[in-house]
Amino acid sequence: MPAVIDLHCHSTFSDGVLAPRDLLARARDNGVEVLALTDHDCISGLPDAQAAADEYGVRLVNGVEISVTWAGHTIHIVGLNVDLASKALQDGLAATRAGRDARGQEIAAQLAKVGIPGVWEGALRYVGNPDLISRSHFARYLVEIGVCASVSKVFENYLVDGKPGYVPMRWAALDDAIAWIRAAGGMAVVAHPGRYALTDTQFWAFFTQFRDQGGEGVEVVTGSHTPDQYGEYADVARRFGLRASRGSDFHSPTESRMDLGGGPPLPKDLVPVWRDWF
Ligand code: AMP
Ligand code: MN
Ligand code: MN
Ligand code: MN
Repeated sequence: MPAVIDLHCHSTFSDGVLAPRDLLARARDNGVEVLALTDHDCISGLPDAQAAADEYGVRLVNGVEISVTWAGHTIHIVGLNVDLASKALQDGLAATRAGRDARGQEIAAQLAKVGIPGVWEGALRYVGNPDLISRSHFARYLVEIGVCASVSKVFENYLVDGKPGYVPMRWAALDDAIAWIRAAGGMAVVAHPGRYALTDTQFWAFFTQFRDQGGEGVEVVTGSHTPDQYGEYADVARRFGLRASRGSDFHSPTESRMDLGGGPPLPKDLVPVWRDWF
């Protein structure tokens, strides 16, 4: 059983700042034995990651983080151990990414109206993969030009619902995302459940649907949770009979709360998502 395992992080193929090879080098330096690269709506960074993982002696898990819209809320579903050759997964991800370009243009148009011009061109300089233009790239550019002091401040003031650069998106349906992951032989895991603004009733309905549609796991320890939330979502895993996952959600050495491999181990009584993998 590996001692240090991190099943959630991002590279330049989505909104991370490190290329897959640099991410794997950092994982090795941090003592990570098993790493899943889980770029948003995209699996094209995984071949580079695999080459570096082989060289550095880190075990790579092929992953992805799919953007889902459920009851009007954006929810992220991580797929672990997916087969990169799966046509169902490839096509599903392509469809999920499709609106990102137009949305980015609209974000820029809205920001131009409040007196911040040139944001499209500016954000593009931070984009590593033209298929995957994310709000994070806009945020980095707005920090660069001094609109806000930090990426999280940009989100708070410009990129979330009710703010001038917010453009609503309709991402994948929950049942589709789970089906794509399963068609690719993978395991579907609810990413950072503590981040969603669901009512108690919605939360219960969401997890019930997730499990009934073939979802198998939930992130308990993640850089997106506070230590109090580790216990809270461990209880959710127990109550719904889900396996537990852990991952840093690392994006950048300067922006991320948790480094690769960080965080405490999962509570001993939970079944880890990787139980049957090694
Ligand atoms: P997108 O998929 O383009 O809507 O971008 C979502 C990404 O933005 C997330 O995966 C995070 O990396 C980042 N993000 C969302 N909210 C925040 C926040 N409040 N502070 C910093 N980054 C955020
Ligand atoms: Mn992200
Ligand atoms: Mn996420
Ligand atoms: Mn993530």
